[in-house]
Amino acid sequence: QVILAIESSCDETAAAIIRNGSEIISNVVASQIDSHKRFGGVVPEIASRHHVEQITVVIEEALAKANMKPTDLDAVAVTEGPGLVGALLIGINAAKAFAFANNLPILGVHHIAGHIYANALVQPMEFPLLALVVSGGHTELVYMKEHGSFEVIGETRDDAAGEAYDKVARVLGLPYPGGPRIDQLAHEGEEAVAFPRVWLEEDSYDFSFSGLKSAVINYKHNMDQRGEEISSTAVAKGFQESVVEVLTAKTLRAARQYNVKQVIAAGGVAANKGLRTSLAVTFADEGIPFYVPPLKLCTDNAAMIGAAATPMFEAGKRDNLTMNGRPGMELKSWAE
Ligand code: ATP
Ligand code: MG
Ligand code: FE
Repeated sequence: QVILAIESSCDETAAAIIRNGSEIISNVVASQIDSHKRFGGVVPEIASRHHVEQITVVIEEALAKANMKPTDLDAVAVTEGPGLVGALLIGINAAKAFAFANNLPILGVHHIAGHIYANALVQPMEFPLLALVVSGGHTELVYMKEHGSFEVIGETRDDAAGEAYDKVARVLGLPYPGGPRIDQLAHEGEEAVAFPRVWLEEDSYDFSFSGLKSAVINYKHNMDQRGEEISSTAVAKGFQESVVEVLTAKTLRAARQYNVKQVIAAGGVAANKGLRTSLAVTFADEGIPFYVPPLKLCTDNAAMIGAAATPMFEAGKRDNLTMNGRPGMELKSWAE
């Protein structure tokens, strides 16, 4: 099947055409990062306005790059939630209009299912699998026994990993989004400031990053009071070591307990070099295949939405034109 997929949940306006859930025919992403930078984060009103301007542009470009017409398509998929409601609605309304005008079925996709299925664009998913989802708004361990089956076995109790990265970056005076810059700084220094690791209860797969974030803020504050300069590279390195160690250890413990055939990483923070290396080394030692998408498919894009929609389409799932944006949508299994 050939699916046109649309994503507009946050600050990327994106459209892609995917064949058989694994082949990217075209993948267009219009990022708004520059427009939000001076505010230090995503401003919902500005995001909506950009989506309105870009949505038809990216859809037309995705079709043009694929050299396809609407009649070449089998379905339209769109991110239904979670995300900013005003942002979601623009992609959803464009998808509905396109589906209606071209008499195509429509499918609503969960954004996090999309992040997970970015991996299907790289190699076939093998079940049961464990997905570590680390993004701007989510930090979750998701167990999948088959396509469309999502069991969240652990999640953050406060900040998401990406959120912690962005907040720490702000403390260091780095521009939004801070994740990539911290990653870079972490690799530039030799020294690391020692920050705590938050493990929670011994058997818990949940995460907590707000204490770590506060530790970084306190460290900076104390150094400022003493009139001492902080080393951004040492703070970045120490912070990243703490995040990566906890994410890796919990993922390993879960992979063992659930006896999975494959471990995958997903979401914007899966673009992190330190995390990618740590997971790759750990699971190579453990003898469990580990995969992570290329950087471009880790952050928001529509190709991943098309990949997630394909098994839904094959299973006969269809939505209709009453679809609405669901800002707080939960990741639920759609398989029986
Ligand atoms: P969600 O997917 O939870 O709705 P989102 O779509 O805003 O949130 P993504 O686009 O998946 O999140 O990821 C963006 C996040 O990834 C930002 O917090 C950004 O700082 C972080 N990020 C991107 N690259 C890196 C990196 N190399 N190291 C650490 N964090 C990174
Ligand atoms: Mg984004
Ligand atoms: Fe995302």
